[in-house]
Amino acid sequence: MQKGNIAVQTENIFPIIKRFLYSDHEIFLRELVSNAVDASNKLKALSRRGEAKGELGDLKIEILIDKDAKTITIRDNGIGMTEEEVKKYLNQVAFSSAQEFLEKYKDETNIIGNFGLGFYSAFMVAASVEVQTKSWQEGSAAVRWICEGNPEYTLENIEKDTRGTDVILHVAEDSEEFLGNERIEGLLEKYCKFLPVPIQFGSKDE
Ligand code: ADP
Ligand code: MG
Repeated sequence: MQKGNIAVQTENIFPIIKRFLYSDHEIFLRELVSNAVDASNKLKALSRRGEAKGELGDLKIEILIDKDAKTITIRDNGIGMTEEEVKKYLNQVAFSSAQEFLEKYKDETNIIGNFGLGFYSAFMVAASVEVQTKSWQEGSAAVRWICEGNPEYTLENIEKDTRGTDVILHVAEDSEEFLGNERIEGLLEKYCKFLPVPIQFGSKDE
């Protein structure tokens, strides 16, 4: 298991985002689903170019709620990430873009709904965010990355047979409304219609 520190200046920018931009927490789902769509489209493009060989299978996105575990999972079978990519894209890109965003817009309220805060918006509803991912590339090892919204993260190898990414949101106490089926269905209706990849929603109640 590796432990590291994400290179951001602010100790924990998340509470600030949460305080300033309270009303738009729900956009997390739009952002994470759009990343899953991107991951699927990137794989399709690699396949068209002949770089990804073989059948891609049915590309789809699943949203899974586990009310007991208090988790929401956004699952795709797209391009996935290698360990190096997780470090680069999640630790560096996602956090630095969130920080940049905040510095630019911290005096304005309600602006976040119109701009992408990207992956980082997961922390609007999650006390911790876990990513389990396996790259499309032959022989890549699957990894698990966990972060609690502060600059510390852990990264380790895991068993994962399937290609793609699970983003598992360990829902924060003040965001448990999002564990409701109807709430999620409403958000999918609002933000996730007419996407090029089918979206399935399932819930485990007990
Ligand atoms: P953006 O989507 O604008 O690039 P994000 O903050 O939403 O920024 O995501 C950061 C990066 O993390 C993405 O560019 C991508 O490389 C990687 N990423 C995020 N989610 C996924 C996913 N589900 N599958 C593969 N890569 C992902
Ligand atoms: Mg994005």
